[in-house]
Amino acid sequence: MSNVNLDDIVSLAKRRGFIYQGSEVYGGLSGTWDYGPLGVALKRNIMNLWWKMFVEERDDMYGVDAAILMNQKVWQASGHVDTFTDPLVECSNCKSRFREDQIDTKKCPTCGKTGTFSKARQFNMMFKTNVGPIDDEASVSYLRPETAQGIFTNFKNVVDSFYPDLPFGIAQQGKAFRNEISPRDFVFRSREFEQMEIEYFVSPKDWEKQFDAWVKAIHEWCKMLGLPAASVHELEVPASDRAHYSKRTIDFEFDFPHGRHELLGLAYRTDFDLGNIQKSSGKSMEYRPKDGGEAFVPHVIEPSFGVERALMAVLTSAYTEDEVNGEKRIFLKLPTHLAPVKVAVSPLLKNKEVLSKKARAVYADLKKEFGAVMWDDNGNIGKRYRRQDEIGTPYCVTVDFQTLEDNTVTVRNRDTTKQERVKIEKLVGQLSV
Ligand code: ATP
Repeated sequence: MSNVNLDDIVSLAKRRGFIYQGSEVYGGLSGTWDYGPLGVALKRNIMNLWWKMFVEERDDMYGVDAAILMNQKVWQASGHVDTFTDPLVECSNCKSRFREDQIDTKKCPTCGKTGTFSKARQFNMMFKTNVGPIDDEASVSYLRPETAQGIFTNFKNVVDSFYPDLPFGIAQQGKAFRNEISPRDFVFRSREFEQMEIEYFVSPKDWEKQFDAWVKAIHEWCKMLGLPAASVHELEVPASDRAHYSKRTIDFEFDFPHGRHELLGLAYRTDFDLGNIQKSSGKSMEYRPKDGGEAFVPHVIEPSFGVERALMAVLTSAYTEDEVNGEKRIFLKLPTHLAPVKVAVSPLLKNKEVLSKKARAVYADLKKEFGAVMWDDNGNIGKRYRRQDEIGTPYCVTVDFQTLEDNTVTVRNRDTTKQERVKIEKLVGQLSV
């Protein structure tokens, strides 16, 4: 388990404008979260990094962005309508409902009574809705509980447009919705969240080699998030716990503040998904090898990443407390490429026009170069440093009286708190952003 306290992360996230409770002003809506200005920047940086590593930098990957609402047949064929369920139990005394495998069913966590739980019934986690003005069975649809099906349903389209060599992958990022029985542990288990998924299509002869390559790629991803290798664990899921079609599954677990839990998953799903689509749509999902070999339904390896869990792992890894000049300091030691703000620029004194003017010019130049640059002249310089430390800003640039004489500014490093003087014309080159 991490030695970081979940309450400290939640409190920092709210205080500094990363993540707020959804619909907070009306008392909240359980399992939903809103991202504030810094949260949305951090989330985008994580998602963009993923897209860059797994789509842009590779030549075997194709991106898609499918509709969230899909034909109900998608969810019938995939098995979600029948089996995407969790076991629900209810306390007959206080009526609280829980997911059976998340509690000790001898004693109700809400009212404390013992022996009050009903037998478990299977609760389908999909949010049901109707598409169009008529509320009948034919108009039923669901908010997608995973992004993967929007990939499978576009397999043939991508093959027809691009005719890629096997193995190749299709990647998608986007919202997913699950009516979790008990959302909990901050954004870790939400009802609305974001996924980043890849279906990597392979020949069945080749799946083990490709699976191993994905294990390596996932560790590389964790490293780029700044997660310590010692906090990431591979859990080989035993056959008895795997879906019947899965030949191998590894859950990548992380030491979160609330314990060791799944960060992301990697599964070899054979030809189950494309095979089902072929059967229920009547359309061929076969791939014809370019070397003239026999056509076949490709098998698939699925790395499935959750954005919220990645973000929570990033915050947990970055959250640091130390002591500066005898005072406790909290800072986020974020990798620079993930930091929501790369550089903060301040005049030493707010009410000295001549300093502000010069600082504004430095700010404008850096902003043009790096984009995520913040102007910060609130409070005294010590307070500004603390604030920037808490949001993980790697550099603070300050314009002071010496700047007016020799055109140098101070650059203060978040991790070491050391300051150095740098010529303004050398700033862009010197900041490794
Ligand atoms: P769990 O066992 O924790 O419910 P799962 O095995 O059902 O997760 P998958 O269906 O494999 O999860 O989903 C893939 C990824 O999507 C997970 O590894 C996780 O990162 C993310 N994810 C799934 N459910 C949620 C949720 N309710 N809130 C936030 N992220 C989620």
